Amino acid sequence: MSRIAYVNGQYRDLRDASVNIEDRGYQFADGVYEVCEVRGGKLVDFPRHMARLERSLRELRIEMPMTLRALDVVMHEVVRRNRIGYGLVYLQVTRGVARRDHPFPLRPVKPAVVVTARSLNFSKNQATAAHGIGVITVPENRWPRVDIKSISLLPNVLAKQQARDSGAYEAWYVDGNGEVTEGSSSNAWIITTDGRVVTHPIGHDILAGITRDVLKETLAALQIRLEERPFTPEEAYGAAEAFVTSASQIVMPVVRIDGRTVGNGKPGPISMRLREEFHRFADFS
Ligand code: PMP
Repeated sequence: MSRIAYVNGQYRDLRDASVNIEDRGYQFADGVYEVCEVRGGKLVDFPRHMARLERSLRELRIEMPMTLRALDVVMHEVVRRNRIGYGLVYLQVTRGVARRDHPFPLRPVKPAVVVTARSLNFSKNQATAAHGIGVITVPENRWPRVDIKSISLLPNVLAKQQARDSGAYEAWYVDGNGEVTEGSSSNAWIITTDGRVVTHPIGHDILAGITRDVLKETLAALQIRLEERPFTPEEAYGAAEAFVTSASQIVMPVVRIDGRTVGNGKPGPISMRLREEFHRFADFS
């Protein structure tokens, strides 16, 4: 079956779908994006993703390209047309097409919208979680506004590749204070030996993950203690458990950090429980 993308008002076969070479997303990475998990053909936590999208756009002074209601219809339609049961739907909004020049276009242009979707392999993801993943730490080298979900992801791409090159799955950024901020495409968490769950507080220096947000509600409901504070790689090496969160991985246990074994080297019981319980607290639409 061929894949279908939504591109600026049209549903197109992916092979024929294209954007203008003067799209500011292509020229300057001048745009934002969202990724939602799809489960049972439904979008997970869609309203929260849309709220974050609106915030990212506002911060960059890009107009909403269409009403929320219309975006809702388009994103669900792309999922439906691609017959996604389990997978991801991707939305990108850029400032639009204009002759290449750094300042915003003098005459306002319409923001450009692309939506794609793809299936994920559920059993493969479950198998990865059953083994747990390795992470490496890398120096924080991104701009100081990573709370904006910008498509400018070169440092993230390079960090992820560095992780893969060293046999790990994810890279955790360590800032100038020697503290872990987040992963290249996930939020970073540890669980202390006395059962407290720790993750970096929200600010300009991490992306406020939607999975992170929903997991906070999961933790509260399960009466597991949460500490929103930075932690160091050294604290993480000695943690009982560690994991990462993102829309595509939900709760993914971490069993190795910089080559050191976390806990007993197997996915921890609290991490696995959170992974299992997460969707009870998520919204489906
Ligand atoms: N941090 C970064 C840098 C990310 O790219 C992502 C994934 N988009 C996250 C955190 C997790 O966010 P979410 O739970 O909304 O997918």
